[in-house]
Amino acid sequence: MIEILSPHIDDAAFSLACFILQKSDENVPIEITTCFSISDYLANGNGSNVLEEVVRIRKAEDHDFSRQLNPSVKFNYLDLDDAPLRGYQKCGFQDCFSEADQQQIRSLQAYLKSKDSPVIAPLGLGNHVDHIICHRAAEAVRNRIFAFYEDLPYAGRIPEAEILERVEYIQNNSRLRLMPLIAGTNYTHRKEQLCSLYPSQLKDWYLEKILHQLNRLRGERLWVVQEYG
Ligand SMILES: [Zn+2]
Repeated sequence: MIEILSPHIDDAAFSLACFILQKSDENVPIEITTCFSISDYLANGNGSNVLEEVVRIRKAEDHDFSRQLNPSVKFNYLDLDDAPLRGYQKCGFQDCFSEADQQQIRSLQAYLKSKDSPVIAPLGLGNHVDHIICHRAAEAVRNRIFAFYEDLPYAGRIPEAEILERVEYIQNNSRLRLMPLIAGTNYTHRKEQLCSLYPSQLKDWYLEKILHQLNRLRGERLWVVQEYG
């Protein structure tokens, strides 16, 4: 079993759809755990969205994605409140966590510690506070981190040097050695269709950046943990 930590409903598909499809076809058991699945955010909403309705729409999009995969792939929701519901106007991480954020990290750490599978967590590119929280929580199970994935669409709009800088920062701070691995190479032709299953979250530039990075790398890049320092 591989545990994929997805900050929001859509991140696993946007960032790892080809990898998940590949592993699904190889019958590798996968569980996608979405952390901040309570949200009233719609990319094309008018700002007065009804929370329950948005959660319903977003989980239905995930369900459509699940139907493209081997039925053995599990979807799990921790139903934590996303950043806007915790009072964030903008979701950029500002170098320190609020008390509510720290509580979210503790919840996630407890969840990960209750399991024993290898974990794939976001790298934290784009600096979205919820993505950074997931990344930090994964540090609590450092001997089980299998890899970090590049957060899309964010990774598609920042220079390569900035991605490498983030990898270097993580290596220095966590003393984990990370090596790049391009995954899902034979499934790249499916990515556009799979991402399009999340219309409520697709801002106009998202798909373009996701596909730009996919074509540039000829797959999805994971940073695999090589050794524990
Ligand atoms: Zn996200």
